[in-house]
Amino acid sequence: MSPRHVPRTRRICENCNQKCLATLYCEFCVRNYLKAKFSNWTSGNVNIDNLIQKCQSETSRPNVIVEWIPYNSEYQVFNKRWFF
Ligand SMILES: [Zn+2]
Repeated sequence: MSPRHVPRTRRICENCNQKCLATLYCEFCVRNYLKAKFSNWTSGNVNIDNLIQKCQSETSRPNVIVEWIPYNSEYQVFNKRWFF
């Protein structure tokens, strides 16, 4: 089923009790999960950290979450698919 066909009615998340739009995940739980990890990573650049945290705080779709990925190069930011 494509996202286009997901009914736009809100449901109550059984985890956080917020009214979420998504049916396969809860956008509030996703944001809370990402916020809880803010202190667990750093890019080494406060401006990049702030940008990524802002993106994560406003994300509503788990498949387009921006994450800091430590790699061989200094700065690597890319979208990562995320499945629950
Ligand atoms: Zn939730």
